[in-house]
Amino acid sequence: MKRRPFLKIIVAGLLQPFLWKYSPLQAAPAHVTDRRVRPSDTLWPSAASWEKLREAVGENLIKVEPMFAACETEPNGSACLEAVENMRNPYWIGDQPAGTELSGWLDAWKPEPSAYAVSARSAADIATAVNFASENNLRLVVKGGGHSYQGTSNAADSLLIWTRAMNKVTLHDSFVAKGCEGRQAAVPAVTAEAGAVWMDLYHAVTTERGRYVQGGGCTTVGVAGLIQSGGFGSFSKSFGTAASGLLEAEIVTADSAIRTVNACTNPDLFWALKGGGGGSWGVVTKVTLQTHDLPEFFGAAWGKVQARSDEAFRKLIAQFIRFYAENLFNPHWGEQVSLGPDNTLELAMVCQGFSSQEARQIWKPFFDWLNASPQDFLVLDKLGAGAWKAQHFWNVEHNDQMIRDTRDGAPRFHGWWKGDSGQTGAFVHGYDSLWLPASLLRQQEQNRLVGALFDGSRYKKIGLHFNKGLAGAPPEAVAAARETATNPAVVDAFAFAIIADGGPPAYPGLAHSMDVDMARKDSRKIDQATAELRKVVPDAGSYVSESNYFNSSWQAAFWGKNYARLRAIKDKYDPNGLFFVHHGVGSEDWSADGFTRAAERAR
Ligand SMILES: Cc1cc2nc3c(=O)[nH]c(=O)nc-3n(C[C@H](O)[C@H](O)[C@H](O)COP(=O)(O)OP(=O)(O)OC[C@H]3O[C@@H](n4cnc5c(N)ncnc54)[C@H](O)[C@@H]3O)c2cc1C
Repeated sequence: MKRRPFLKIIVAGLLQPFLWKYSPLQAAPAHVTDRRVRPSDTLWPSAASWEKLREAVGENLIKVEPMFAACETEPNGSACLEAVENMRNPYWIGDQPAGTELSGWLDAWKPEPSAYAVSARSAADIATAVNFASENNLRLVVKGGGHSYQGTSNAADSLLIWTRAMNKVTLHDSFVAKGCEGRQAAVPAVTAEAGAVWMDLYHAVTTERGRYVQGGGCTTVGVAGLIQSGGFGSFSKSFGTAASGLLEAEIVTADSAIRTVNACTNPDLFWALKGGGGGSWGVVTKVTLQTHDLPEFFGAAWGKVQARSDEAFRKLIAQFIRFYAENLFNPHWGEQVSLGPDNTLELAMVCQGFSSQEARQIWKPFFDWLNASPQDFLVLDKLGAGAWKAQHFWNVEHNDQMIRDTRDGAPRFHGWWKGDSGQTGAFVHGYDSLWLPASLLRQQEQNRLVGALFDGSRYKKIGLHFNKGLAGAPPEAVAAARETATNPAVVDAFAFAIIADGGPPAYPGLAHSMDVDMARKDSRKIDQATAELRKVVPDAGSYVSESNYFNSSWQAAFWGKNYARLRAIKDKYDPNGLFFVHHGVGSEDWSADGFTRAAERAR
């Protein structure tokens, strides 16, 4: 933690009364808007100002320490040991003010604690914190679930607004957005405060009430972050993006106003929140989402097979793509397959609406085809398909694919997928992604697709996430996604390809060893694999929250033709750029760290 020289505290203290009166949406003095202040600056708020803020937010102002600070001072002390023991528990990480689900990204970002955090308990706390940040010209950061790949929920020398403690979930039998009375039909819905994670909603909506809400696949992602991303879950091929289900949000904007936004009130901001990227629009305090009838069954198909030669692997990819196009390209099937440099095809797909028998029947021709050629294919993990009662899908007690948070006091329903464990605390070596248009599934195009997948898989494992492309989804899900800010490429895509790799936790302060050369090699191979796919989709779009940190065409890639409209909405609601995130709407006006306005940098 940086300490301020005594003199600077006095100067800042003298300036405080003036700064308290400054209104962010008025024309601002150059020093206020062009350069944000750091603890080492004379204009940094005085101790007395921070004290005033602490009182105003019910004492919930925290001085933030790095997550492994205790390990730097006392490596064998209980605090360090507790941190090390829990660092693979995503709920524990989420409970830390400096917690980030990832421990960084090579040459991109590393976790850096804010100077202070407001652990908000209400929209009023958030409005107070936003006001304080804008009046004192602070770098502001917003954090919910802490699952930003891009590292956008942490920044050194900032004030953090942390929503973790606001996690109430309320179900409605019939909900009409405010101001939409008579214009919208009442629908069943769920309201979640911004700090809730998807598991909180799945428990309340599905396990307890037998209904469905479209959220994320990873149970520990925050609701507000995911909605603003666009948001895909395992069953998005059927229910669309999470943002499409948004009926209403409450948000504190840069002018500290607490606004209700929906299709009838502030419809422009409402649209921007649906996929326009987290941390750019204000602080969302709660969201209300439509709920749906729950299908009777959720199911899966699994297994891993290795081709015994390159030639056989090409044949395998071609057969799978044909099989997918003919049998799985519909609202029932989502999640993933991966194609590895070791000539492996791994199946990790899910479905909705089929019984076990139906799921097995669908996969039988493909499994028979594989089993008929043992000279070409070796089954590494048993192939299979099956289904279960959908209501148990997120019930930790009934699901051996989940790990429960067993810490004292943790809700009994808190768990995470075993399959997501590898990501907890991971350090990213490289990451890229692109939407693959459904036109590539046409018979005459399949060869090109198969060639690109084979060539790309020579460098790195390619994951095809079918639930993250909405081609093949029901028309109403496609229409709803078109009403969001997400790149329209999503509705033409049959799948979203992700190529990524990383290493074990490398949080600052945590003893770890990293082979940087190997990490760089990984990163280069990811670029090479992506380049092979780009040969068939040169101007591919990419999902804002699962994308390359270094994508220089981010505006077009994340939002396509929607960017211009998003930018206009940004200028309307946040003209001074209080809400800055890496590659967020309007971030081109600022330095990479968000501290200096571009015009000021040019001076
Ligand atoms: C391990 C992992 C698994 C993932 N799984 C999925 C998945 O299954 N499906 C999917 O679609 N995406 C997934 N993502 C991407 C994820 O949806 C986004 O990164 C999302 O923004 C994370 O939200 P969060 O609140 O957890 O993270 P945070 O890091 O807290 O926030 C992410 C961004 O949203 C902003 N934000 C958070 N809360 C608020 C708020 N209340 N108001 C305004 N801005 C806010 C932050 O400032 C930040 O810019 C995953 C990411 C990771 C790291």
